[in-house]
Amino acid sequence: MSEERSLNFIEEIIEQDLAKGRHTSILTRFPPEPNGYLHMGHASSICLNFGVAKKYGGKTNLRFDDTNPVTEDTEYVDSIKEDIQWLGFQWEKELYASDYFETLYQYAVRLINKGLAYVDDSTSEEIAEQKGTPTQPGRRNRFAERSIEENLQLFEEMRAGKYKDGEKVLRAKIDMESSNMLMRDPLLYRIRHVHHHRTGDKWCIYPMYDFAHGQSDSIEGITHSICTMEFVPHREVYDWLIEKLEIFPSRQYEFARRNLTYTVMSKRKLLQLVNNKIVAGWDDPRMPTISGMRRRGYTPKSIRDFCDRIGIGKRDNSVDLGLLEHFVREDLNKTAVRRMVVFDPVKVVISNYPDGEVEMLQAENNPEEETITYREVPFCKELYIEREDFMENPPKKYFRLAPGQMVRLKYAYIIQCDSIVKDEQGAIKEIHCSYLPESKSGADTSGVRPKGTLHWVSIAHAVSAELRMYDRLFTEEDMDNVPGEYTDYLNPDSLKIIPNAYAEPALKEAKLGEGYQFLRKGYFALDKDGDADHLVFNRAVGLKDSWAKENKK
Ligand code: ATP
Ligand code: MG
Repeated sequence: MSEERSLNFIEEIIEQDLAKGRHTSILTRFPPEPNGYLHMGHASSICLNFGVAKKYGGKTNLRFDDTNPVTEDTEYVDSIKEDIQWLGFQWEKELYASDYFETLYQYAVRLINKGLAYVDDSTSEEIAEQKGTPTQPGRRNRFAERSIEENLQLFEEMRAGKYKDGEKVLRAKIDMESSNMLMRDPLLYRIRHVHHHRTGDKWCIYPMYDFAHGQSDSIEGITHSICTMEFVPHREVYDWLIEKLEIFPSRQYEFARRNLTYTVMSKRKLLQLVNNKIVAGWDDPRMPTISGMRRRGYTPKSIRDFCDRIGIGKRDNSVDLGLLEHFVREDLNKTAVRRMVVFDPVKVVISNYPDGEVEMLQAENNPEEETITYREVPFCKELYIEREDFMENPPKKYFRLAPGQMVRLKYAYIIQCDSIVKDEQGAIKEIHCSYLPESKSGADTSGVRPKGTLHWVSIAHAVSAELRMYDRLFTEEDMDNVPGEYTDYLNPDSLKIIPNAYAEPALKEAKLGEGYQFLRKGYFALDKDGDADHLVFNRAVGLKDSWAKENKK
């Protein structure tokens, strides 16, 4: 985190708590429900929870909020752990809300014993009806009058499996007239005869969110329980339960959800995209998931910097995807090695270069490196350049290759176009050039200064590569407020494939997880779909930063 940034409101609260001695150490938690892969919104929650704890010498627990048995899966648990570590954070303890089921059960018994919870036999429709509306108070039913003994026995029987799903619930006895609907005797437990991914068939009653989250916080001694704004009305229940149970006083703080433009972020929608095969999986590089961004070539640092930059607020909003790309570009510019790849080749023959000779040129990996390292790039008589880098009849100020015109080949020599060879259809087949032997990069005595520099590859040494060019997944900026179905706004051009590009041979050594700048083209990352004979690269971002340009003062 940058030092100059002013404190966010969570940091202000923490500093006050430390100053007042309310806490001597900070413990936060990140509490994902293992029902999907993590997305960019989770990343901002992770950066916040782990970030503030780290800043104040505290720790963060990873707690899987696995109280809802049906939607959860260990595949998700594994992916969540991988994503958090990849982002650069390490949790103190790996915990599961389901590990607290016995303690939570005992807490419920404690409430019953205090006359603060009761078993209700009403149907969910009856409960909803009795609850009233925001403008009308609710009313208690006769089940609220049950004795402590009866409640204890019924609750024990619920646990023992005596009742069917929906036959009974356990409710807190709070206030049916509260202006906060959630305080109107909220459900604490419901019956569900289903298998749980960790506790198996041990339980057939499961705690509701409100009776699991705050209590889990308290059991772990979480000092600052940070969640998103939709939990504001839950805070009253959170505080009430902690007070009545007389347990560790964790406190809840809320910040606004973060979304990105041109995408959807809810796990439900992302799951639909996966299940309906609109994308290739949770880690499709077009997905706003952490695994998708990783596969696409985004770096952990760029995501952290982005989250830090957007900060936290109290109002939900969508952040410009261009800003995220700006940070990706900024980081990759520093870290990505440079390589040459020709996307759409046209053949260049250097007439005055000796047949069969191969020169290994020293080419710097990255001019941004503190200590420059080099790779070797083979140069010989026959090369490929981009078709768009040649024009037979160029306009004025065209600085690329054209008849009679000179350009520099990056890391190599200056060449001049002498003639062109066309096929029967009139398309350019070969460009015949001559080179200036005294113009070698680094030892140029030619005195010639061509304005254009082109990337190229040696035909004999090039490796073929498939390039996957990505664009935004949806056509509308604000996908949370589009009329109709969100799937009506899928961008048909979100993926374009260049099946046969030619890459310099150093890219045979490309590694998964590393970024590459293809000169003049963009930033790319190797994809797991390819192999040594068929390299596949994903475009992370292009080179042009429209965001920085538009936002320059
Ligand atoms: P979704 O609505 O996408 O399904 P969720 O809130 O159900 O997400 P959880 O696994 O319950 O997902 O979330 C774990 C944590 O991440 C929670 O503290 C939640 O508030 C936070 N979080 C989820 N989405 C966002 C977001 N868009 N911006 C900020 N924080 C988020
Ligand atoms: Mg949730």
